[in-house]
Amino acid sequence: GPILTVSGVRKDYGRTTALAPVSLELYPGELVVLTGPSGSGKSTLLMIAGGWETPDDGEVKPHPPLPDVRMAEQPWEHLGVVPQSISLLDELTIEDNLAFAARRTGDADVAGLLAALDLTHLAGRLPGETSRGEQQRAAVGRALAAGASLVLADEPTSHQDRRRGALVLDVLRAAADRGASVLIASHDPVAIGRADREITLG
Ligand code: ADP
Ligand code: ADP
Repeated sequence: GPILTVSGVRKDYGRTTALAPVSLELYPGELVVLTGPSGSGKSTLLMIAGGWETPDDGEVKPHPPLPDVRMAEQPWEHLGVVPQSISLLDELTIEDNLAFAARRTGDADVAGLLAALDLTHLAGRLPGETSRGEQQRAAVGRALAAGASLVLADEPTSHQDRRRGALVLDVLRAAADRGASVLIASHDPVAIGRADREITLG
């Protein structure tokens, strides 16, 4: 069955429609790209799917269910997120950001992820000592380090050049090929090209 079911989810902010009603199912092994014009609700849908925002209507059912806590308080090995804000832990090195995310599962191939994301030479640096693009790749590594079964990524190639963007998509594709459901909000044609399906909002 699906890892995530979204049924008739809708969200307004005041008089602004942030997300018109949307329904979708995500299955294990799928890489799905969420497209649509700027302002069509892609980020809002990812925030709702991850449990950070509540919809005004409809429901989101992750399988297994999400605990009702913020991931920062109790990271949950089933969910990996690349937020638009990137949000690395500033006091931990790039390598330790990945290792920290994987601490409950303990068997993460942190070195392999760092290599795949062209971050090995930056493993010992603090996020503040790296570029936005490097931080973004580290956030992708963090989202995958615990072997999450559901991965939500908001424009994960937005700060990448062509070559590094392809690396990001390779690791996300590999996560799907290992059985995860991966949902990416993106306009990147490379992302769309690597996806099994495209869902368009707006
Ligand atoms: P996308 O990711 O497709 O660009 P968003 O989900 O970021 O779209 O935003 C959808 C709409 O909701 C936009 O009009 C945006 O301005 C509005 N919006 C998003 N978050 C908020 C918020 N916290 N408060 C008010 N309006 C918001
Ligand atoms: P903020 O609190 O800065 O608004 P976000 O909403 O972007 O943060 O993300 C929520 C919290 O979850 C942040 O504190 C962030 O550090 C943490 N977080 C985001 N993605 C992951 C992840 N993949 N693994 C562990 N923690 C994460």
